Amino acid sequence: MKYISTRGEVEKLGFEDILLAGLARDGGLYVPESWPTLAPATIASFPKKSFAAIAVDVIHPFVGDDITRADLARMAEEAYATFNSAEVTPIHPLRPGQTILELFHGPTLAFKDVAMQLLARLMDHVLTKRNARATIVGATSGDTGGAAIEAFRTSTRVDVVILFPEGRVSDVQRRMMTTPKEKNVHAIAVRGSFDDCQALVKGMFNDHAFRDRVELSGVNSINWARIVAQVTYYFYAASRLTGLQGPLSFSVPTGNFGDIFAGYVAKRMGLPVDKLIIASNENDILPRAVETGVYAMKGVVPTTSPSMDIQVSSNFERYLFEASGRDAALVRSMMGSLAANRRFELGALWPALKADFAAVAASETDVAATIRTTATKTGYVVDPHTACALFAAEKAPAGETVVLATAHPAKFPDAIEAITGKRPALPQGFEHLMTDDERFEVLPNSLSAIQEFVLHHSRVASGV
Ligand SMILES: *Cc1c(COP(=O)(O)O)cnc(C)c1O
Repeated sequence: MKYISTRGEVEKLGFEDILLAGLARDGGLYVPESWPTLAPATIASFPKKSFAAIAVDVIHPFVGDDITRADLARMAEEAYATFNSAEVTPIHPLRPGQTILELFHGPTLAFKDVAMQLLARLMDHVLTKRNARATIVGATSGDTGGAAIEAFRTSTRVDVVILFPEGRVSDVQRRMMTTPKEKNVHAIAVRGSFDDCQALVKGMFNDHAFRDRVELSGVNSINWARIVAQVTYYFYAASRLTGLQGPLSFSVPTGNFGDIFAGYVAKRMGLPVDKLIIASNENDILPRAVETGVYAMKGVVPTTSPSMDIQVSSNFERYLFEASGRDAALVRSMMGSLAANRRFELGALWPALKADFAAVAASETDVAATIRTTATKTGYVVDPHTACALFAAEKAPAGETVVLATAHPAKFPDAIEAITGKRPALPQGFEHLMTDDERFEVLPNSLSAIQEFVLHHSRVASGV
């Protein structure tokens, strides 16, 4: 399988190359040259297969000849053995017509583990084959950093440096980044905001000499391998919902449009999907785009679902590329307008967007009411991100619906306690998290200070 850029100005690359590259050099995002479909007989075999086995069937067509099925199967087995549920992403029937898909049983209790655990193994595999190393630098508002550090801490080929805004992530989130003891993972508290952290990462990628010197690589959700690893659980959920008559709908807490785009890919691959519901918090750029046909940036509002406090949904570009019949020139002009004017018109793509997705924004009041009512009526406690999806599923009824639960409520104990009056407990196995020693560096919001730290700690740069 070859990959092309949504902006159409770079050469095609194979899976291994786009895995390491992340963003394309023309600023676009990589997508497969064509969409593989799964035979109905393959999909029909899923109810009897494990999560890891389904992952191999779903992911291997995207990998092509680059990695053998046996190697992929070994990596998938290892990745999903780190989850504290044998089912990996178990389903929980909430009420008639509504099922929760629990994506938070990985080592950092958020859905990002599903992709990151596999991504780390894929990267190590490719780097070992090439006898190469890489340095990953990333910014996090909370969940991505912990998932990346946890996934790469056993890597022999990759060093990871994560920047987080000092004092602005929860204690649980910070400790997930600062308690792993391995020497190849580093957390940096930056004296600044999440936007500052992102700007620092961008600054490092734009410094080409530095970029080459440390073999800089990225693991944010524009990396195609992360999207493809998330396609698995759409098929998995459908395979476990028995007695199903028609297609399923999915309600998805959305920030960067990665998770919901994985649902769109599942549909393109042959999964019977009725509606895909985009669930946002008060940062509602996508629901506004669906409603008005204009994609327009506004300032970010902080909410109780911080992983969705995003004003530009990077992966939306992949959808625009598809909806336009792969018109890279149109995508370039829309992205140019976004950079210059902070907005663009969907124009002829608007009807397709409305047909492919429903979209609902949940206010902070809606989130609190949803958490409270769900707990009272069903005894089930959802985290604030999941609450947005539950609220959206109720506002945009779409028949039998799977609601994606993207984080464990104990990751946001203050918010949940304020709403329900009860502090959610961390699951078994996390007893040491709140007492283990922490290790992190506090650095100023200065590109040179951060670059110096990375140069000093990267095994690529030091040649060790
Ligand atoms: C990252 C994240 C999201 C948003 O996922 P996207 O792929 O960015 O749309 C939702 N919920 C939680 C808990 C997250 O960590």
